[in-house]
Amino acid sequence: MGLLRAWRYVSALPLVDVDELVREGVELVLLDRDNTCVPRDAREAPAEVTAWLARARAAGLSLCLVSNNFHTSHVSRTAAELGVDFVDHAMKPLPFALRRAMRRFGAPAEKTVMIGDQVFTDVAAGSLAGVRTVLVRPQSRTDLWYTHVFRVFERLALRGVTFDGE
Ligand SMILES: [Mg+2]
Repeated sequence: MGLLRAWRYVSALPLVDVDELVREGVELVLLDRDNTCVPRDAREAPAEVTAWLARARAAGLSLCLVSNNFHTSHVSRTAAELGVDFVDHAMKPLPFALRRAMRRFGAPAEKTVMIGDQVFTDVAAGSLAGVRTVLVRPQSRTDLWYTHVFRVFERLALRGVTFDGE
């Protein structure tokens, strides 16, 4: 499995199959915040995301935000609103924050999944941490300026890939 190759491609977090995660032995779900759970141009997660998190929790999955967002208050507020744990200043694609979250929950790599909207941060960090990854489409077209630069290369990396739900 290549560094930039996700395990699953799904059009949006609420369409990720919780039952499949459970069947695959997943116990810990690491979640990107911006444009995966909370649109970049919004303050709160949409109801569909909240509902998905509730389904995942009911299925026994542990949930933890792993965010590069440098506003700790944004990350901690979202984590509190969603009732999930968080690691901020994650510096993805470095894998250390993911490993920190895995240690916190006592979850080995083979029982952990990273879900995010960016190939070069979320998928790469997951691969480097040795966990399976799910790439979702960004919720909003609003991105940081340097993310727009990465999106150009991302389109190249995603040539020929089809997303479930599209
Ligand atoms: Mg993101």
